[in-house]
Formats: sequence, structure tokens, C-alpha cells
Amino acid sequence: MLAVHGLTPAAIGPVLDRLGAPPWRGAQVLDWVYRRETADPEAMATLPAALRRSLAAEFSGPAVEVAVRSVSADGTRKLAVRLADGELVESVLIPDRHRLTLCISSQVGCAMGCRFCATARLGLRRHLRVEEIVGQVQLARAEIGRQAFEAPGLTNLVFMGMGEPLHNLDALVPALEILSAPWGLGISPRRITVSTVGLVPQMHELLDRTGVNLAVSLTATTDEVRRDLMPIDRRWDLSDLLGACRALPVPRRRRITFEYVMLSGVNDTDDDARRLVSLLQGIRSKVNLIFFNPFPGADFQPSPRARVEAFQRALLDRGVNATLRESRGADVAAACGQLAAQGGVSTRASARSGAAGASSDDPRAS
Ligand code: SF4
Repeated sequence: MLAVHGLTPAAIGPVLDRLGAPPWRGAQVLDWVYRRETADPEAMATLPAALRRSLAAEFSGPAVEVAVRSVSADGTRKLAVRLADGELVESVLIPDRHRLTLCISSQVGCAMGCRFCATARLGLRRHLRVEEIVGQVQLARAEIGRQAFEAPGLTNLVFMGMGEPLHNLDALVPALEILSAPWGLGISPRRITVSTVGLVPQMHELLDRTGVNLAVSLTATTDEVRRDLMPIDRRWDLSDLLGACRALPVPRRRRITFEYVMLSGVNDTDDDARRLVSLLQGIRSKVNLIFFNPFPGADFQPSPRARVEAFQRALLDRGVNATLRESRGADVAAACGQLAAQGGVSTRASARSGAAGASSDDPRAS
């Protein structure tokens, strides 16, 4: 069976050939699936009835469904998304004046073990498949249709939900093709951002193969602190990571975003701000300062707002473009770092695997 949200021109062609249908029907099928959001071939009214019946036997339906919706007081909407095997991941719709950003997941759980992130406690359960990544976007588009958001439609897509997207590059790159292709969802790569803890070879591969934006989670200005917060720093330290960022083929007029979660007394001093400025020398960059969102059992406290603003000022005064990312959706555990599929299968996974379980293909170990 072909997964309906993994369909590409290359995949549909041989099926139509085998069914005796002309190749140009492929464009119609893709139009129904991606543009008209119709996953059921029986409902593809421009196809002959016999072909609709044949395709219904070839395609499996959507690989994802909404299990639970939670709406924050600030309008942020979190979708707990159930996969065919019962696992749960989370997607978050974040309306903001003229923008509507969708944050999606790339794995069930995560192997990276960042200590400031609730997802890390689940360990890695499994990678998402192409159709499960694309399916989250289709679910969110249907959700937008149900709910009157101020923005006209989805404006930005970010891979900052559960999982390390570059640890699942084999599904990420084909999913990005479907999401951005004119025959697919047609989302401009300029409006798509993939966030990583800094898997250096995969960063190169992503930018070689796609035109999306890159965000790098930095969150410390010394290896000593970063190693404690983010185990990936033992594999690629700050010098490896920032050296790679200097060499990346970032398109003209684009910048790498560096994400920096502000942790009280850990990484938020004036010295940190000064070190950050010098670390980013020679990189076309901007810094996104993120308010830490506590979760049950978290080891950290958020930096006070005054400290975050002083840190931002110290960066701006030294010519570094720095913005504050306000916390959104914290009351429904939809904020940055809080996603952990609470109340579902993944909670049981948490009990089984403990904190930050490493998988057999854990890039931290290579
Ligand atoms: S911050 Fe991202 S990479 Fe780190 S554990 Fe959480 S989901 Fe994984």
C-alpha cells in the first residue's frame, strides 16, 4: 500500500501505469491529496469511477489523527497526534498577529538528552516516517479550517517539536520535498526552519539538499556548560559546531538562527553575552533568546525577565541581532521545551526508558 501523504510524482507514476491510466492523471491525484486535502481516492471527483476504486485499494489513508486538542489562553493550539501504532507526538499552532506558525515533530521522543527539554525524558521511541511528518501539516491545515485564526493561513513551518530532525534525515528530506514542491504543499523553503542541536555532517547535507532555514540550539558559551546541558557537545564541541556554521552554504540574504534558552544562573551572565558575541564572529546570524519553560522535575529556573532583557541589550550593543521569543502556550504545556505527549502512550514510554535513552543509531556515540 502507498501512504497517501508520502505520494510523489515518482511514486504515483508506476501505479497509474499498472492500472492502465494515463500518466497525466498523476498530477490530478497529487492535486487532490495536497492542495485540496482529500486523502480518500473515492472523493477525487475529477477521476473516473473505476480509477477511484482501484486507487482506493492501492492507498493507505492518513497515517496520523488528532487524539487531543488543547487551546491556550493566548490562542496557541496544541494537537496531540496519534500515529498508527498508538504512539503520540505533538504539533503546535502559534498565531501571532499576521503570522501563523506550525511547529511539528520529527521523532517520537528524542535521543539527544538536552537537560532543559521535557521530550528528552522520553528517550527515542522511533523516527517518524515521511507520511507522519507531512500528515501533521495536513492535520494542522484542517484545524485551521475549523478555527478562525487572524492570519489567513499557515505562514511559517518550524521543525522544533519533539525530536531532533537531523537525526531523521532519511525521512526529513523527502518530507521537505513534498512540503515545498509545487505539486505538493507549495510552502516556500524560506518559510521553513529546521532546528538542530548541531549534528554537523547532517547540517551540511540538509543545506546541500534543501533550501530551508537552519536554526542551531546553542544555549551555552563554554563547552563545560554546554556539555552539561547538551550531551551532543561531547561529539561536536563549540569549535566544531561554529566552524561548521562558518563553512555552511547559507544562501545570500539568509542567516543562521542561534537559539539560546535562558537558564537562571547557568548561562545568563554578562560574561556569557560577551563570549556569545565573540563566538558568532564571522557568521551571518541572529540570536533568539528563549524563556525557559519549566516542566515537572526540571533542574532549572527561568532567567528573570530583567536579566533576559539585559542579556539582549548586551548583544544588541555589540552589533548582534538578538530577539526575545516570548513563551507561548505554557498553560497547555505547548511551549518550547515542554512537549512530552502527556497523558498518552509516550508517558508510559517515559516510565520504561527513563531519561534520555540512547538508541542504537545515537549520533552522540559515533
Ligand atoms: S531540545 Fe530538541 S534535540 Fe534536545 S532533547 Fe529536546 S527535542 Fe531533543
